[in-house]
Amino acid sequence: MNNRPDVVIVPCADYAPERVRGALEELIARAGGLDWVRPGMRIGIKANLVSAMAPETAATTHPALIDALASMLLARGADPVVGDSPGGLYNAAHLNKVYAVSGMDKTCARLNRDFSTRAVDLPEARVCKTATVTGWLADCDGIINFAKLKSHGMMGLSAAAKNLFGSIPGTMKPEYHFRFPNPADFAGMLVDLDEYWKPQLHLVDAVLAMEGNGPTAGSPKALGCLLAGENPHRIDLLCAALIGLNPATVPTLRAAQARGLCPERLDGLRVDGPWQGLVAQDFAIITQRNGLQFQNAMGGGKRGALYSRLLARTLAARPGVEKAECVGCRKCEQVCPAKAITMRSGKPVIRRAACIRCFCCQEFCPKGAMKVRRPPLARLLAR
Ligand code: SF4
Ligand code: SF4
Repeated sequence: MNNRPDVVIVPCADYAPERVRGALEELIARAGGLDWVRPGMRIGIKANLVSAMAPETAATTHPALIDALASMLLARGADPVVGDSPGGLYNAAHLNKVYAVSGMDKTCARLNRDFSTRAVDLPEARVCKTATVTGWLADCDGIINFAKLKSHGMMGLSAAAKNLFGSIPGTMKPEYHFRFPNPADFAGMLVDLDEYWKPQLHLVDAVLAMEGNGPTAGSPKALGCLLAGENPHRIDLLCAALIGLNPATVPTLRAAQARGLCPERLDGLRVDGPWQGLVAQDFAIITQRNGLQFQNAMGGGKRGALYSRLLARTLAARPGVEKAECVGCRKCEQVCPAKAITMRSGKPVIRRAACIRCFCCQEFCPKGAMKVRRPPLARLLAR
């Protein structure tokens, strides 16, 4: 065990280039530095480029941060490449649009244009032993995971751990939702991916986070900080605290804790930097009530598992369309991996029995018309 902190946090009030550069240099230096980067190394910067959305929407990692990081890597003689595989087609036409709208094409990082895929084995995995991944990331000599802090319909939180789902080609993501329909299994798959890639460094952009109907249709919320560390789950534990999210409701944290990768409680973290003053008092989160939460309360064994499944089904959040905001574009119908959506009179109708609550429809609705809704009983219990 080294003496490094689990998480470093530094304030960064906005994306002014000079401020970003200073904050990022301080953050990375305190998290261990970049001495592992050698001249000629190809360093993959795995940004969050969830969709073709402008930086001010807070859906993607901000280009000022990517630019500052890439210039630090260039100064060391490395070859920084930025990329991601958002949902949808994984090809040049789609990614060119994402790069342009998100501002990545204005940074000094090279844009990934290798859209090959690769079948890999994950021998150490607990849940996902084989996967098809993006070739560009596999070909890098080192990886820096640069995530965005957002609320998330399915996982509660999108930060460091969730970001590596972008190593799965966009066209194949629905298949993974279908392979792992249970949030606990899906989270286990994400932890497997994190362990497989093991980036040298994880960074989180929480200067402008996203609250509410995340990860694409929420609202920007200023948190004014950046986080770094070597372990994505420990960073995420602090991220949950910053936005007032109960870590027990975050499936990736539960999966990581079960594997001994993350402490149960915040006081088990070694944090470098005063973070208490950065906690958002009124951050709009999506409260999930899933089987994980009930497992403990119901005890172990088959009966506990059965009750927890029943409770989860009764209380779990589900997607629902806000008809007045829906323009009938059919995107939700096209992305639904369970084929649970059909269009009637120009609006989507969800077949509840078929829905696996992956929230792809919510994530990819271009109008934010698909919402995460909690059943009345769940709302009552949450009071
Ligand atoms: S993706 Fe959104 S706007 Fe398009 S049909 Fe579905 S709910 Fe309506
Ligand atoms: S309706 Fe939405 S949440 Fe349900 S399976 Fe389809 S995409 Fe996933």
